[in-house]
Amino acid sequence: MSRLVVVSNRVGPIDDAKRAGGLAIALVEALKTSGGVWFGWTGEVTPEPDTRLKLESAGPLTLATVDLSADDYEDYYNGFANSSLWPLFHFRTGLVQYDRQNFEGYERVNASFAKTLMPLLQQDDLIWVHDYHFLLFAEELRKLGCTRPIGHFLHIPFPPRELLTTLPHHEQLVKALFAFDILGFQTEHDRDRFFDYVRMEVGGSVLGDKARCFGRTVTARHFPIGIDAATFKEFATSDEGQKQFTSMRDMLRGRKQIIGVDRLDYTKGLPERFNAFERLLEDYPEKRGEVSLLQVAPPSRSEVTEYQDLRADLEGMAGHVNGRFAEFNWTPIRYLNRSFARQALAGLYRASHVGLVTPLRDGMNLVAKEYVAAQDADDPGVLVLSRFAGAAKQLTDAVIVNPYDVQGMADALAQALDMPLDERRQRHQALLKNISEEDIDHWRTTFIAALGSVENAGITGGSIHADRPDRNGNVA
Ligand code: ADP
Repeated sequence: MSRLVVVSNRVGPIDDAKRAGGLAIALVEALKTSGGVWFGWTGEVTPEPDTRLKLESAGPLTLATVDLSADDYEDYYNGFANSSLWPLFHFRTGLVQYDRQNFEGYERVNASFAKTLMPLLQQDDLIWVHDYHFLLFAEELRKLGCTRPIGHFLHIPFPPRELLTTLPHHEQLVKALFAFDILGFQTEHDRDRFFDYVRMEVGGSVLGDKARCFGRTVTARHFPIGIDAATFKEFATSDEGQKQFTSMRDMLRGRKQIIGVDRLDYTKGLPERFNAFERLLEDYPEKRGEVSLLQVAPPSRSEVTEYQDLRADLEGMAGHVNGRFAEFNWTPIRYLNRSFARQALAGLYRASHVGLVTPLRDGMNLVAKEYVAAQDADDPGVLVLSRFAGAAKQLTDAVIVNPYDVQGMADALAQALDMPLDERRQRHQALLKNISEEDIDHWRTTFIAALGSVENAGITGGSIHADRPDRNGNVA
């Protein structure tokens, strides 16, 4: 059997309590079953470059990590990855900061990480690279002579061609993607936006799930990421989950609660969410004193200015709504900047009558799936979900909202809060079926199967029979 080598910016931590962020959580769940090597950044920054590898065993896994130098951290991580690619790939061109020095840092880290990984690779390895930090990784490994299958999974959306072309070096990035054998996207829409770029911007051709350009062929498919639904369900009724559930319900004393759980990030639509809750209290006065919003949002990337601004804005907004509507025995918005252990989080989801997940744009959004998994099937809460989360493509039985439409969200909240038990059960059953079938195992096994079936990895060329695109870029 092939050994799996996973590459991602952050590695671990394996400890449940310390993690927040979809990628870290998904990879731990995926790798604890498959075993293998997990390679990436330690999370530590050193003043000078230091490429010494740290090796650590964690059950069937070997964690292989390196530090980032202060320059790399600034240029590659805070710079090109989080201030250029992250906003751009979430369709937020207005927030993109581009700087050639940052791009050079990005190239430098992709190259040096590939060089550090190369000696660890064995003859039968399958290499699975994750996310926007490492778009150049396969190209760097190929330069070093790697001929093993290399796949890439993009956890965030793929942007429309017109937005991607605003980034200098867009073609270099897309060309580098063709050094992978398999490209995985969260949704078919993301995959199709990649195909659109290939056809319309660089004159490539597409046939079925294969794209050909730059003399290379790559297979591109969607592999919607899931959660470990069965385990998360158990978390909700674990001792810790039950404890949180009971203390939350005792505190609520018959009132209802809406819950939001997100990293503090401008893609999550948090200001819009607070506005929608305020509108609910304005337009549905009978809800005042009867429902509260619990927003859990641990700080993230706090060295990037936009994240600092967002934090300050949200504190102001929560204060404003509370000042306007609070009673001595009722606080409308409870806003917590902290993390919870996963069992505790499951209990909080279960105690909440509505799960409010309203990103402006999101690759998938695992919180939506966790909320569903944690519910009591006999008396489930209602998921209110943004149409712009990748999860909305699968979770069609949620109450789907447009997060830019404050009034629409307020009305959807009222609908969710008043939803009859029968309808809540029906919707929940359908949602649970989806997240249980398309769970984390399904994601991992389908991606690895695709990677395992690659032939002629790393060979430039390959061919697909494709007609020339027509005027609209379509091939037959
Ligand atoms: P992203 O990957 O953009 O952070 P996702 O919704 O896909 O968004 O994943 C977020 C993950 O982080 C979920 O598994 C969620 O449970 C976890 N998480 C978010 N906030 C917290 C928190 N306050 N405490 C614990 N886990 C959290």
